[in-house]
Amino acid sequence: MKKYDLVIVGAGIVGMAHAYEAVQRGLSVLIIEKNQSCVGASVRNFGFITVSGQSSKDTWRRARYSRDVWASISEKAGIPIIHRGSWIVCQRPEALDVASAFLNTDMGADCQLFRPKDFSHLESLGFKNISALRLDHAAGLLYSPHEFRVESREAIPMMADWLSSSLKVDFCWGAEVFSCDDSQIHTSAGTFYTEKVVICPGADLSGIAKKYLAQHDIQLCTLQMLRVKVDDHIILPGSVMTDNSLARYLGWADLPEALALKVKIQKEMPEFLKEGIHLIAVQSSDGSLVIGDSHQYGNVEDVFAKDRIDQLIIELLGQTINFSQFKVLERWTGVYPSSSQQDAIIEKVSDSLRVAVVTSGTGASTAFGLAKDNFDDWI
Ligand SMILES: Cc1cc2nc3c(=O)[nH]c(=O)nc-3n(C[C@H](O)[C@H](O)[C@H](O)COP(=O)(O)OP(=O)(O)OC[C@H]3O[C@@H](n4cnc5c(N)ncnc54)[C@H](O)[C@@H]3O)c2cc1C
Repeated sequence: MKKYDLVIVGAGIVGMAHAYEAVQRGLSVLIIEKNQSCVGASVRNFGFITVSGQSSKDTWRRARYSRDVWASISEKAGIPIIHRGSWIVCQRPEALDVASAFLNTDMGADCQLFRPKDFSHLESLGFKNISALRLDHAAGLLYSPHEFRVESREAIPMMADWLSSSLKVDFCWGAEVFSCDDSQIHTSAGTFYTEKVVICPGADLSGIAKKYLAQHDIQLCTLQMLRVKVDDHIILPGSVMTDNSLARYLGWADLPEALALKVKIQKEMPEFLKEGIHLIAVQSSDGSLVIGDSHQYGNVEDVFAKDRIDQLIIELLGQTINFSQFKVLERWTGVYPSSSQQDAIIEKVSDSLRVAVVTSGTGASTAFGLAKDNFDDWI
């Protein structure tokens, strides 16, 4: 049987990003995935490739690198970029203060902040579809040019096909990895041989990765998501968020100015806060919107989705986007591992074995940077 330079366990975005980075370094690669296709967080997410709002230092740096890799792969693999840029509707003056402070940081360098007096000129400045946003009571509008959106459920299989056909990455679908020792990988489909192994298990923390991650304080975070149909003519100007994203994403929420916003949200939106709800709205090529999300933390996945959470997400959408017709098309949950200590973990088990896991719900945006960091001191 062929011996690989590298075997990757898990065909989510973290595993595939490792495959891409390994091929750039000249390695032969096999990805082993226990399902017949990726069904984890990587296909359940918004497909929102974000830079602004990522926590400073490593995560922001990884996000910038990953965004550029995504841009190059999407072109080569034919993965459509559905829309670009993100808009944060600042409803409260405190949110405007956070956005304004962000602009004065290195991370805000290419972003723009618009005040109410500017709103009517935005279309003439070249920004399209601003009328989709509800700006009647908004204190400001933060624009970031860095982000873009892919349709993850299509993009992830397309990326796997491209890795396989163009970069000669081998895939073994439907095989569960039980253990790795020396150069052998034992799976439900037999034994494979390799020089090195990276386990990228996603939220599957009770399987092979368990013993290697035992010293880290990792919980599971369950999120509720919806796909909704709104009026046909509504086209979003980009991805859309609002105040509670500024209070949640660390690139904004770590700024001293965010404290007043958090206090205000705690007072005015206690139920949203309890369910960890903030708004992200992105659009698909058929016009439908993917909206979310909520955050429930625990030792196991929360398998019981609550209608009340969906209602709160929809309420927030109604405060942020103009629409009159509305229908829910799909509901689903997703799970990611979460740590209050680290945004991501590279566990260096031995010279031949590492575990890589994103513990901040940002893997679509940071996986290529994480893989690069993992290999830079190893391969
Ligand atoms: C609802 C939701 C929305 C999100 N939105 C965004 C977003 O818009 N932008 C963003 O940047 N991030 C987002 N995230 C986070 C992002 O999706 C994750 O960080 C990322 O997908 C994690 O990728 P992964 O490869 O580690 O995990 P996964 O995609 O879960 O893949 C792990 C794979 O490993 C396989 N596996 C595990 N154990 C074994 C084994 N023993 N043998 C074989 N295979 C195994 C699993 O079957 C699985 O396919 C979101 C997450 C969720 C849940």
